[in-house]
Amino acid sequence: MNARKQALTKISETPKVYENLEKPYDINSEYGVDSFGLGTMEAYLSKPIYRRLRNTIEQGVALDEAVADDVAHAMKIWAMNRGATHYTHWFLPLTGSSAEKHDAFLDPTSDGRAIARFSGKNLILGEPDASSFPSGGLRSTFEARGYTAWDPTSPAFIKRIGGVATLCIPTMFCSYNGEVLDKKTPLLRSIQVLGAQLKRLMKCFGVEEDARPSVTLGAEQEYFLIDRELYVQRPDIMQTGRTLFGAPPQKHQQLEDHYFGAIKPRIINFMHDVDLELWRIGIPAKTRHNEVAPAQFEIAPVFEELNLATDHNVMIMETLRNVAEKHGLVCLLHEKPFAGINGSGKHNNWSISYGDRNLLNPGTNPHENAIFLTVLCAVIKAVDTHADLLRSATAGAGNDHRLGANEAPPAIISIFLGEQLTDIIDQIETGEAKSSKNSNYLKVGVDMLPPLPTDATDRNRTSPFAFTGNKFEFRAAGSSQSCASPNIVLNTIVAEAFDEIATELESLSKKDFQKGLQKILQSIVKKHKRVIFNGDGYKENWKKEALKRGLPNLANTPAALTPLKDSKNIELFRKYGVFNSSELLSRYEVFMEEYCKKVHIETSLALNISKTIVMPAAENYLNKIAETAKNMHEAKLGKNKALETKGRLISTLIESLSEANAALEKLVVANADPLKKLAAMGDVRTIVDKLEVEIDDALWPLPKYSELLFIY
Ligand code: ADP
Ligand code: MG
Repeated sequence: MNARKQALTKISETPKVYENLEKPYDINSEYGVDSFGLGTMEAYLSKPIYRRLRNTIEQGVALDEAVADDVAHAMKIWAMNRGATHYTHWFLPLTGSSAEKHDAFLDPTSDGRAIARFSGKNLILGEPDASSFPSGGLRSTFEARGYTAWDPTSPAFIKRIGGVATLCIPTMFCSYNGEVLDKKTPLLRSIQVLGAQLKRLMKCFGVEEDARPSVTLGAEQEYFLIDRELYVQRPDIMQTGRTLFGAPPQKHQQLEDHYFGAIKPRIINFMHDVDLELWRIGIPAKTRHNEVAPAQFEIAPVFEELNLATDHNVMIMETLRNVAEKHGLVCLLHEKPFAGINGSGKHNNWSISYGDRNLLNPGTNPHENAIFLTVLCAVIKAVDTHADLLRSATAGAGNDHRLGANEAPPAIISIFLGEQLTDIIDQIETGEAKSSKNSNYLKVGVDMLPPLPTDATDRNRTSPFAFTGNKFEFRAAGSSQSCASPNIVLNTIVAEAFDEIATELESLSKKDFQKGLQKILQSIVKKHKRVIFNGDGYKENWKKEALKRGLPNLANTPAALTPLKDSKNIELFRKYGVFNSSELLSRYEVFMEEYCKKVHIETSLALNISKTIVMPAAENYLNKIAETAKNMHEAKLGKNKALETKGRLISTLIESLSEANAALEKLVVANADPLKKLAAMGDVRTIVDKLEVEIDDALWPLPKYSELLFIY
């Protein structure tokens, strides 16, 4: 039996343990026990300190050091009560995952004892010598220090791995000169600038000034699960997170029987464990279900404030990976782990509120409707003006296999509004032009909107940017990507639109306000309606139509990242204080380098697997055929035509494979253009996948798609 067959046998013989399903769980008392959220803070801090901290968290009031000392002390007591021995500043460098460096709560004394200590300074500022993180040239080695700074708006939490408990403190990460080296800092900046512009806009509408603006995010996370026994036999998945080879199985997702199907016992046990882990640290995991592809699933939390939701999504990804391991599974967060079936995205549900009111919720009176339509038009204007930047925020080696493939949104950014809202937008465009043949127009701020059925707005699954009732759902983001990048862009471009609209509104007199507003919205619709597309985004003719409309189609990462170097974009981020020009350019460098490295790893690995795993299997099989033929000849059984044909086929495939390998090798050695390497790797794959369906199953070394996707 080959190793692959042994693994399959082992999986089938391993009992599946479903312990958690038997334990009762009380959400009321157990939710958030390992999160130092407002509730815990109130219990552990004195009233005045709690009030001041709350002011910092909710109003952004600066924190003084005395408060920090008290908070640190309370945090330490709380964390030690919960079993923590260490703390870490937890931050989000440009690598795509989280980073941590642990320190014990330990201070040795001169008399040979040790005291548990954690000061306000320890809480507020960290100095990890994190010189090996990508910085895109922002740090030279002589000033290699990076600094982490506490973000009080994202509660500290306790991470538990086995019996080890560590207090994690979400922080920003920047260089000695204060230039950002992470994803959180620009996200916070973008939230701030969007809030400031929103306040201006709301003032134009005469809405109270002391309400708090907030940006909200609900990130739906898709993922795959495979068995660990098979994973360890796929060097491609182990090193790149995806399969570089694999013939399509006979049954995959054609029957559409996986989507929302009954969840299998081993999987529900895993999901339950994930939910308990997330609830423990105060992450409101809400929805779990089977996704379209076999072995594909989704988890979605209830939406939260953007910065918090972004941190939480990182923790969700980490938790999925860790819990999978405990269950003998491996969680694949790659955007396209398997060719030929659906890949995984991260649906970024974004909205903006002022006080208690979600501004993307059509209101209940003409005044609220006017605000809704203004915010809606601002988003349309922003997305059309900066479609290239939104696309760039989703760029990456993994997502390239998804965007534009047949199940994901295309690389062209367009907006889906649904029939009813499009009709309203059309009416705004028609405006008060009385001569128009369409007498049916809407007076902004005077007329009521018809009720919009929220479910009917969510039917188009092909749109990258869809209005879904009371929020926009950006679907181009990849499953493994941080939510930070797309939302940094979204916040900044909508801030610009708010800014420009507010500037126009501010110049209007009170009596001209409605008319003026109507005109402003009308001109926005006229100029930007080309970005609205309610049709099927997967169809080939949309590409042609989009080209005619002048919408950018940035098909791969190198193309999608170039907007970061564009002077108009550098100016945009500079103007709103989100990135200075060197920060933005450094991001281009880091993401481009990451892409090139990933492609290099993939292509050189594919070559290696092809040469050292697949080729020997093919040669073995050819040898087996030759032996059989020889034996038949000796046994005087005559010539076997079928055997001969088969031998020739394998021999030809071996020859083609060695040619394809040689071509790929040349490019890999020369470290050629990534797109060329990828194309050459595609040629190798085609032949390998042909061999897979011809070679004796017992000799095939790599677990097949049918096994990876269906064995639980
Ligand atoms: P779907 O049909 O796409 O699964 P859901 O109604 O389940 O849509 O919502 C998906 C996500 O959108 C959830 O995480 C939900 O909490 C989030 N969401 C709902 N309202 C808002 C909002 N106002 N802002 C941001 N996200 C929201
Ligand atoms: Mg969705």
